[in-house]
Amino acid sequence: MKLKLHWQIFIAMGAGILFALLFKEQVPWVSPLGAIFMRLLRMIVLPLVMTSIISGVAGIGDSRSLGRLGGKTFAYYIMTSMLAILVGLTLTNTIRPGAGIPRPQGVPFSPADLDTSLPDILMRIIPINPFSSAAGGDVLSLIFFSIAFGFAITRLPKGPAETLKNFFKAAFEAMMALTGAIIKLAPIGVFGLLATAVSNMGFDLFQAVGKYMMVITLGLSIHFLIVLPTVFFILTRRNPLDHYRAMAAAMAFAFSSSSSAATLPLTMKSVEKNVGVSNKITSFVLPMGATVNMDGTALYEIAGVLFIAQALGIDLNFTQQLIIVVTALLASIGAAAVPSAGLVMIFIVLEAVNITSDAAYALVGVMLGVDRPLDMFRTVVNITSDSIGAAVIAHSEGEELTYRREDI
Ligand code: ASP
Repeated sequence: MKLKLHWQIFIAMGAGILFALLFKEQVPWVSPLGAIFMRLLRMIVLPLVMTSIISGVAGIGDSRSLGRLGGKTFAYYIMTSMLAILVGLTLTNTIRPGAGIPRPQGVPFSPADLDTSLPDILMRIIPINPFSSAAGGDVLSLIFFSIAFGFAITRLPKGPAETLKNFFKAAFEAMMALTGAIIKLAPIGVFGLLATAVSNMGFDLFQAVGKYMMVITLGLSIHFLIVLPTVFFILTRRNPLDHYRAMAAAMAFAFSSSSSAATLPLTMKSVEKNVGVSNKITSFVLPMGATVNMDGTALYEIAGVLFIAQALGIDLNFTQQLIIVVTALLASIGAAAVPSAGLVMIFIVLEAVNITSDAAYALVGVMLGVDRPLDMFRTVVNITSDSIGAAVIAHSEGEELTYRREDI
């Protein structure tokens, strides 16, 4: 019997970790395996997002249904991200991981690396030129254009509408076929990715900020193992284990790649094939979810900023904590779905409460040093929340969730 894909991926993850621990010097030889796989996935993400959204939105039919679906999707995104923020807020305020941390020296990381602000991020959702958005890999504005274009198709007379619908549907199916072929290489890619990630980790830093890492890991675990399954169960009355099993391969890949965008093809394939959600809903909820719905990142933003404030001995009053809650949510929406994007967004949240000293930036530098394992876990949480969103919304639209245990 052939081993299921997610088991192949788990075994490859273990092999990658062992390889890095036993043969650190040889890791550069296997790194390209991971890099090639990531490139293949990134190659298909933009056309996949574009064709899936256009054919999905055009298939929804009328503006009332589109509005209803959009409303539910955003309500879900905001609800789960806020729950994640609450978990982060409570844990960091009770455990206080930042208290008593020695101040790091130097300024290893600077907000000058960040060329954006919050109003800027919101404004940039509307592309001036959709072709340069596509060429520049700017997913959020491409999503905006694709929704508008798909919607325009629904307003056309039957003849041209059918032509365009068939065209984009066929292009989408071709992209999914390509996805299927590339996914078969996942175990090889994951081996290379994990070997590289582990060999780059600075384990000595882990001890210094162990409590901080523990709080984030605990918060992500609570959200992943308790909050999200509960939301799923309340809204669908289905066994959350079925859902987690169906998404195992995508979760394992999110962990290995630290990128929701690179994982998107696997997420879409798993939700369509293993959960049984229609293309109409996956194509609307998942690409947008990968880009804007980041529960793990939201939890990380709030916990990270409170950690810095505690380490610097800054007492934040209620209003300031409220500002952090809101900006953490916006920062998670604005964070790109690529490795360490969440960490960079911390500057925006820090700025909102005027924590802009060199000491604060030095702490962000330390956090960068230990970010990879945390990033891996928050990416898993991010894509899990997206997939649960697709299932919940499909269920609310009267679709039956036909969980199955086949390979994707
Ligand atoms: N790597 C995360 C993702 O792609 C974003 C983050 O850094 O928090 O979902």
